[in-house]
Amino acid sequence: MQYFPVYFRLAGRPALLVGGGDAAVRKLRLLRRAGARVTVVALEADGEIARLAADGDVVWQRREFRDDDLVGPALIIVATESAADDRIAEAAREAGVPVNAVDRPELSTFIMPAIVDRDGIVVAISSGGAAPVLARRIRERIEALLPGRVGRLARFAEGFRGAVEAAIPAGPGRRHFWERFFDSPVAAQVLDGDERGARRAMAGLVDAASLPTEGMVYIVGAGPGDPELLTLKAVRLLQQADVIVHDRLIGPEVLDYARRDAERLYVGKARSCHSRSQDEINAVMAEKAREGRIVVRLKGGDPMIFGRGGEEREYLENLGIRVEVVPGITAATGSAAAAGISLTHRDCAQAVTFVTGHARNDGVPDLDWTSLVRMHQTVAVYMGVSSAGAIAGKLIGHGMSPAMPVAVVENATLKTEKVVRGRLDRLAELVRENGIVGPAMIVIGKVAAEPGCNVVPLKQPALRDLPRHEAWVVAG
Ligand code: SAH
Repeated sequence: MQYFPVYFRLAGRPALLVGGGDAAVRKLRLLRRAGARVTVVALEADGEIARLAADGDVVWQRREFRDDDLVGPALIIVATESAADDRIAEAAREAGVPVNAVDRPELSTFIMPAIVDRDGIVVAISSGGAAPVLARRIRERIEALLPGRVGRLARFAEGFRGAVEAAIPAGPGRRHFWERFFDSPVAAQVLDGDERGARRAMAGLVDAASLPTEGMVYIVGAGPGDPELLTLKAVRLLQQADVIVHDRLIGPEVLDYARRDAERLYVGKARSCHSRSQDEINAVMAEKAREGRIVVRLKGGDPMIFGRGGEEREYLENLGIRVEVVPGITAATGSAAAAGISLTHRDCAQAVTFVTGHARNDGVPDLDWTSLVRMHQTVAVYMGVSSAGAIAGKLIGHGMSPAMPVAVVENATLKTEKVVRGRLDRLAELVRENGIVGPAMIVIGKVAAEPGCNVVPLKQPALRDLPRHEAWVVAG
């Protein structure tokens, strides 16, 4: 972030505008909208400035800029659109007065964003001077997104602030009231223009909210890493959460979507060094929910696929705590998309099986190998990097072709994503030689071949001879 965004209170304060042309007029309108007391210094001025000066709405000093003009104003806008801008801006910088030279960011200590102003709801957009046209395009999109009466809604809420403060003590309960309010039919009524009806309904809403709030836990899937793969619901909950409990797979790009002042609890869980035990994680979630807080338990991928989401849900529900699960894109589908793999395929993969490669003490995962070598299916292995060799050995030992295509996708959907392909009997080398260490998915099956699935001729029964089955999940 090159510039620090702030909103400056100018109402009733002096501001200096140097210059009298078109650019100066545009800035003058903005300054007046913010309620500034504007003095214009210019030898010549546009008709609008002269008119406002004649009406006494601005002060126009018909002369050159002088250094003593720097004493007093809260900020200065330089718009002579000539070489004089350089000198005046420099003098302002030296005097420590905030200065903006129109279209000259290099001379300025602040720049002006593109703005959307809906009746007091003001959105400012800036590209830091890099691409003002892009900033304006973004503004247009935001303008289209904001309901016309959003400013009225802000003022309606303001009108009830006192009543809400009297009814609901400060803290998460009050914030949740407002969260619910803006999603409620009452807010919709205001946006529809029926403020009188909304005012009547609001009283009931405030009464109901004065009852103690109940906390709850949302167990939310964050997807494989790319924040654009978060669901809209996940983003909304991240914005509402009082507490976010997350583990290692959740990157900073995803956490950027969380409310800034939410409490964040990192509970680790790297394979070898659990920073908190599952019992501790459960206990902390229960404790926060019982305090009346909204807890988001954020998990990589989908919370119910090798994520212990089910155990956490059961634990909390047994304590009578409300729980809701929000699904996420699981690593298998994220990785497959990254590698251009179709996990099922009409010609060669009737089913896909998700397995864990997490190994027992002997380094070999405890899986139903016979079922995994069945033809016409794709096997997607989670947590299989360190046991890759053992997995390949077992599958081949149970009859899978050593030439079966495999793909390994590390850090799928992140900038560090890596996709490598090979054959099953070389899986361990593939992992080692490519330095795969991060979270990675191993996809085994004809679909893992590039470009399609007709690569390895296998002696196998025809599809119609196999028992019919749909996708199943085998937990290790
Ligand atoms: N609940 C998660 C899985 C947790 S188990 C989900 O649904 O995706 C952790 C394993 O997921 C890792 O060992 C790795 O195999 C896989 N994984 C998670 N994120 C990944 C990513 N970005 N790329 C590849 N594999 C990933």
